[in-house]
Amino acid sequence: MDKTYLDTTRHSCAHLMASAITELYPKAKFGVGPVVENGFYYDVFVQPRLTEEDLPKIEAKMREYQKAKLPFIQLKKPIDQAIELFEKREQTFKVELLNSLKEKGTTRLQTEDADLPKSADEEISLYQTGEHFIDLCRGPHVESADKIGAFKLHNIAGAYWRGDAHNPQLQRIYGWCFETAAELKKLEEQMEEAKKRDHRKLGKELKLFTFSDLVGPGLPLWLPHGTILADELENLAKETEFQAGFQRVRTPHIAKEEMYKISGHLPYYADLMFPPMVMDEDGHKTTYYLKGMNCPHHHQIYASEPRSYRDLPVRLAEYGTCYRYEQSGELFGLMRVRSMQMNDAHIYCTEEQFNAEFLAVIEMYLKYFKIFGVEKYLMRFSTHAKSGLGKKYINNENLWLKTEKMVRDILVKEKIPYEEIADEAAFYGPKIDVQIWSAIGREFTLATNQVDFAVPARFGLLYKDSDGTEKTPLCIHRAPLGTHERFISFLIEHYAGAFPTWLAPTQIAFIPVGEKFVEATNKFATNFKNKNIRTEVMSGSSTVGANIREAASQKIPYLIVVGEKEASGDDWAVKVRGTEDLLKISAEKFLEKILEEIISRQE
Ligand SMILES: [Zn+2]
Ligand SMILES: [Zn+2]
Repeated sequence: MDKTYLDTTRHSCAHLMASAITELYPKAKFGVGPVVENGFYYDVFVQPRLTEEDLPKIEAKMREYQKAKLPFIQLKKPIDQAIELFEKREQTFKVELLNSLKEKGTTRLQTEDADLPKSADEEISLYQTGEHFIDLCRGPHVESADKIGAFKLHNIAGAYWRGDAHNPQLQRIYGWCFETAAELKKLEEQMEEAKKRDHRKLGKELKLFTFSDLVGPGLPLWLPHGTILADELENLAKETEFQAGFQRVRTPHIAKEEMYKISGHLPYYADLMFPPMVMDEDGHKTTYYLKGMNCPHHHQIYASEPRSYRDLPVRLAEYGTCYRYEQSGELFGLMRVRSMQMNDAHIYCTEEQFNAEFLAVIEMYLKYFKIFGVEKYLMRFSTHAKSGLGKKYINNENLWLKTEKMVRDILVKEKIPYEEIADEAAFYGPKIDVQIWSAIGREFTLATNQVDFAVPARFGLLYKDSDGTEKTPLCIHRAPLGTHERFISFLIEHYAGAFPTWLAPTQIAFIPVGEKFVEATNKFATNFKNKNIRTEVMSGSSTVGANIREAASQKIPYLIVVGEKEASGDDWAVKVRGTEDLLKISAEKFLEKILEEIISRQE
């Protein structure tokens, strides 16, 4: 089944659900119901509010309709008649959408756009599914409900109308929908496994991070164990970037409004930034913002000295902290947060250098994928559209075509799996979003890379070329490890919390079998600690058995129980995480082995 038709069945399934809800709860009002990954959702307002227990009832009704081959019938009406129809049905949200289409000629949200015509002059397309349910919808739909494959309603959550907390709260009912029952079952199993690997659950159990009401929502606090993960990732980035010719910089967390106006982030991204801080300095008002992105700061570092073509490429890297004002309803564990540390860097280069630089960025990704055992990945390459030149995109068609070709050629030549999407580029150049799949097959958006041929000029960034003329460099924005928040939540799921030794917060646990052996155990631990190996001695009041269970639940890679034999210099019997076998090895050999494993960042 092709993706477009699959999406049609998914969207039709949303209508089917809405139709079932209308029959069961005749006063139900509907918001929007778009297609999402693996299925669909529909926002609905029902009094009293629905609960998980209501979902099977709705599902049963949908299956009844499916059996009866309920048809999808399209109707067309002028906008005023459509408004009247939804007013009669007390579908206030649909009326609001139609009215705003009528007044402004457009609506604001993409999810709403999907169901509305582009202009109020066109006839409004409606779909009737079942006796009672008519929806505002551009379509297309399946002819009848039996064409929809296997589905399941799996979640119900709160969602504000139009994503705004001042609006009424609706309920968002999520469904999965696939062509076959086997595909649905596979996803259900994957989700079951994902639940066990949920980064919020494991984050708590493994003491990686926490949130505090006093600090604020979406502002994660890294606990000692989580900080080790972040530090190890930074060490990896520092080494890799050093070898690739990057220089590290550090920048403050705030900057003046003017800089973001020049960069173009203000006013366009004002919604995503924390509100301004207005300072009174020597009788002048100065406005500051928390930084939403590191780029403009780095541009100022580039501008801090005159550059010649001989200095290029200049590669500036920073694990930069950024702040973004995500809606509170959008916050989700570490995946959607308001403060984040980004594996950021900006490469300033000439057009001639672009190919090699861009290729090196791609290669860095591949190197990381290998280290983390990421087997499936995809680069989504977003390009401009001619119709948007001068509006959505800076008006220089040649430069767009040239840069896009350079990027495309590299992707093809290197056989990188990619997908090209027209008309989704950034304002100032083409971009690549990197998608990766975890060990259990769930997709994550890791990072975005952009080619920027506009902003360096806005800041007047220059270099003196070999012929003595002044030119503007290109800038590549890249962040292969994304943000700590997002990447670590990926790693938690990917490894199910059982991190490879080089990343594991505790690498070895020592457990003395009794008071008598504590001293010998401490000596062993000190030997390993002196080699910077993270060890923990688990003694105290617990029994040996309880300590062993605790070490296992903390997913510590190696565990050594110290008794008479071990203390007197015999070989150790090292318990290796995830296996029943004991590794018979001398203390010295084990030290060698684990050091090698850590240094080479073995999986
Ligand atoms: Zn629809
Ligand atoms: Zn940037």
